[in-house]
Amino acid sequence: MGESSANVSAGAQPRGEEVTALAAELIRHLAWLRSAGVRGLPFPPVLERPDPRAAFRPAEGATLGTAAPPTGIRRPHDASPHDAPPEQVKAPAGPGRFAGEKGCGSPELLAIRQEMGDCTRCKLAGGRHRLVFGVGNPGAELVFVGEGPGEEEDLQGEPFVGRAGQLLTRMIEAMGYARADVYIANVVKCRPPGNRNPEPDEILACEPFLRAQLAALRPRVIVALGKFAAQTLVGEAAPISRLRGRWFRYEGVKLMPTFHPAYLLRSPEEKKKAWDDLQLVMRELGKEVLRR
Ligand code: URA
Repeated sequence: MGESSANVSAGAQPRGEEVTALAAELIRHLAWLRSAGVRGLPFPPVLERPDPRAAFRPAEGATLGTAAPPTGIRRPHDASPHDAPPEQVKAPAGPGRFAGEKGCGSPELLAIRQEMGDCTRCKLAGGRHRLVFGVGNPGAELVFVGEGPGEEEDLQGEPFVGRAGQLLTRMIEAMGYARADVYIANVVKCRPPGNRNPEPDEILACEPFLRAQLAALRPRVIVALGKFAAQTLVGEAAPISRLRGRWFRYEGVKLMPTFHPAYLLRSPEEKKKAWDDLQLVMRELGKEVLRR
């Protein structure tokens, strides 16, 4: 892997690429603070662009593992004049250590997993049993993004295998898919202690890898499950109750936020709204929408 900003040792003079990576990290952090409603900071002009997520695009020559995300999602029919030109995910050298691990079913996904390695980019590393990269079909037209692994996921190394995961699997099946047809990932890949919410620095550290996964997958639709996935992918700090049920675009790909299955377990009366959201997704994907 290339040198990351985390590798700049105290007292050492950072090299040009490290300065670029540090600048990108700072800009992304400022973008995050601004989207979270912080005012009065010296926000740089780049954040004033029509698409503030442009600030999240990689600096030239940036690789995975720097703070700058590596690539954009590219589907030819969704290409937009604002899209950054396609970039290559640089496959790291070394043996295919993670080949065969869940969620690594294409060379691009495997390269991203290898780049994550035994990740210590944020403080969640210290408490995890397993880094939970993802699971599912590398050619999926539909991708679900959750928040972060819980206890079961941390032990098994697979997203959404606990109670919320069982509900998600039923939701997927109700949409006319098998769980293995779709791809499932999380905003943060390591379990927050005690299932607390992921913190902004943890999301920032992990988001480049989610971005890279989504770019590698190039799905037709992304479903963001819950507040953290929705806010991260939409780039707005609005509550999930305001974001859900509306179409957004994430790097040209249609994005539908909906409630998190764990919330639906606590508030079953909200399941109808989530099902309405999923029916919009089914329509978009040409799936038969049955009355329930
Ligand atoms: N909740 C999530 O957001 N992700 C998981 O993988 C499990 C529970």
